[in-house]
Amino acid sequence: MIFSQIFDMVNVGIVILDKDYNVFKWNRWLEARSKIPSEKIIGKSIFEFFPELNKSWFHRSFKTVMSFGNFSFFSQKLHSYFFPFKASNALDSKFEYMQQSCTMGPIRDKNNAIEYVYIMVQDVTEIAAYEQKLVELNTEDGLTGIYNRRYLEKKIEEEFARHQRYARPFSVVMADIDFFKKINDTYGHQCGDFVLQEFTKTISASIRKVDIFARYGGEEFCLLLPETPGKAAELVAENLRDIVEKSSYRYGDTDIRFTVSLGISELSDGVESAKELLTRADMALYKAKKSGRNKVVLH
Ligand code: GH3
Ligand code: MG
Ligand code: MG
Repeated sequence: MIFSQIFDMVNVGIVILDKDYNVFKWNRWLEARSKIPSEKIIGKSIFEFFPELNKSWFHRSFKTVMSFGNFSFFSQKLHSYFFPFKASNALDSKFEYMQQSCTMGPIRDKNNAIEYVYIMVQDVTEIAAYEQKLVELNTEDGLTGIYNRRYLEKKIEEEFARHQRYARPFSVVMADIDFFKKINDTYGHQCGDFVLQEFTKTISASIRKVDIFARYGGEEFCLLLPETPGKAAELVAENLRDIVEKSSYRYGDTDIRFTVSLGISELSDGVESAKELLTRADMALYKAKKSGRNKVVLH
């Protein structure tokens, strides 16, 4: 009596299944979220109502709980949810379904034999939404401290939209360190990391505040130049190329020198998307590499 009241009061879903996957108990929390009253579901196979659970991973977990009496935990991070309940959250998260962390465990009879399996369902939508927000808010590249690729791509989209409204000029510069692999191979990966950090500092010190400098991946960088037509971007890139060529960085007792190749694309009428702008810069960069490296090419 007391236990059945608690069973219906708790702020988690609890379903108890017999060894044949038939529902033995279905608490009020689950009734409310699923809109399935317990009279309707008790005695029936859980798969009749939730066919998506009829999967080998579910059977496997269920069987080990039944046979060995252990507990299984199903993190939202891996499974998202067990039961597809519409998310009713006020947060503007992108979750269509309630995010759930679930636990599965044994229920024993008087003789300590495993009679049932329970599944406990916790609504973690809110936590998952905050986590998602934090990931979105992270704009920094871990190694160099400059902007990361996600931020850059967002900014290009914004600049692209701005250009469509106000037709302001705007250029993208893709930069790739020449023969970077050789630096890694000769001086070690740590030296490679050091070079990436120093390169970043050099460039950051040479650009305007409004320019957005980001690590695009590995030893590839991208620079957004608002209010800058292609010809002016070419001068900027040429200046950066020159600075890098003349710089040297002390690592241990060696002076490391290297060069960089740069490809530029300009937002003009023919460009249909932010993505295309990046592709064009990439094509120009490829040309710069092909024509001997330590070069600047405007698309
Ligand atoms: P290219 O002139 O054609 O650009 O030659 P490359 O050697 O610079 O280019 P490639 O793409 O062949 O090699 C890039 C190397 O960058 C390979 C990869 O191991 C290394 N790399 C990528 N990310 C990092 C990083 O974070 N740290 C270090 N140390 N190396 C990295
Ligand atoms: Mg390279
Ligand atoms: Mg590269």
